[in-house]
Amino acid sequence: MARIAFFNIPAHGHTNPTLGVVRELISRGHSVSYYSYESLREKIEAAGARFIACDAYDAQLGLGPEDGARIARDTAFSIHVLVETTLALDTMVCREMERERPDCIVADSMAVWGKAAALKLGVPFVSSTTTFAFNRESAKLMKQSLSRTMAMLLSIPKMNKDVRRLEKMGYPIKSFLQLISNDRDTDTIVYTSPEFQPCYESFSEKYSFVGPCILPPASSFEKKKEKLVYISMGTVNNNMPEVYKNCIAAAADMDAQVLISAGALADGDALGELPENVQVRRWVDQTAVLKETDVFLSHCGMNSASESLYFGAPLLCYPQTAEQGAVAERIRQLGAGAALSSASAADIRAGLELLMENGSYKLNAEKIGESFRRCGGAKAAADKIESMITGLHNL
Ligand code: UDP
Repeated sequence: MARIAFFNIPAHGHTNPTLGVVRELISRGHSVSYYSYESLREKIEAAGARFIACDAYDAQLGLGPEDGARIARDTAFSIHVLVETTLALDTMVCREMERERPDCIVADSMAVWGKAAALKLGVPFVSSTTTFAFNRESAKLMKQSLSRTMAMLLSIPKMNKDVRRLEKMGYPIKSFLQLISNDRDTDTIVYTSPEFQPCYESFSEKYSFVGPCILPPASSFEKKKEKLVYISMGTVNNNMPEVYKNCIAAAADMDAQVLISAGALADGDALGELPENVQVRRWVDQTAVLKETDVFLSHCGMNSASESLYFGAPLLCYPQTAEQGAVAERIRQLGAGAALSSASAADIRAGLELLMENGSYKLNAEKIGESFRRCGGAKAAADKIESMITGLHNL
């Protein structure tokens, strides 16, 4: 059968949705090698793939915490890091690809070295996109500040100069846009539904919207009151003591159970005294909690938002990045939640009450959840990958 090579960045949110696809491909008799990072080794091997560590070559792993934050806001710097990583991986990846001769390369939209290798070596390529699919139309949703847009425009020559270093090494890549974005002709798997994807009609038939890959709850969560409010700012930028303190103040005399997943801030007494209806945890089994949740106050990371909608829980949205802002805006457009206007205790309280009292938010969240369940999931993603492999059944 076929040989398939996956490439990804060191992030659980980008890796988790692909694991079901890996399992499905292996159950169909294909072999899968997965180029990723030690922190993900265990779950990748558990899915049945051969794991190849890229840690030694990654320019991003050598960065300090300040550089890490810079990547999120400085496009030119992030292009520089992506180009450096691609060049550092070049010899190892080309040697392995030569030896392995994969029939298809599947790379996360941010693991641009996988896409670059596919273009250089002429191997069929599928992009794996764990956020919304992105084009001119959907980009309008990702509201960037004017200063950030200006900074990006001014750094286009610098970014293209970086990309020319790839060209010199035999990568047929002409511009930074070709490196970081997909066009109408790029075969792309998107882990959301046509209904939730903004501007769905503007994407070509090369895009397969297979729905989110929700991990089944590993435990069950018992509600203590009729209403449950769950609060989490995700796993990356969750150091927000003032926000949690305001949530606690907002919850003080509410007739609801309030559960906060606060990462390291759950330790010690960083958040002060808790009312009897509020619990703060370092980590929870989020899908188990969301199954019982009435309102989720969330930063709107794509995984958290999809999980919430999958279980029909409306969201009070407090996005922190442009990408999370696009998810929050889509939730608002579809009536499955509302934006939190500020993180003051009064606004938090008003937002939670609005979503608990007006049943239309829950109905709309359930509709999106149903659209997720109608998608083909890992099987549809595996079909898409198989469709790229010519003469599959004669292999
Ligand atoms: N998560 C969890 N328990 C927690 C907090 C988060 O299981 O207490 C999981 C959550 O279910 C989701 C992921 O961590 O799958 C967070 O991903 P998301 O894209 O929402 O946000 P990020 O952490 O990347 O900002």
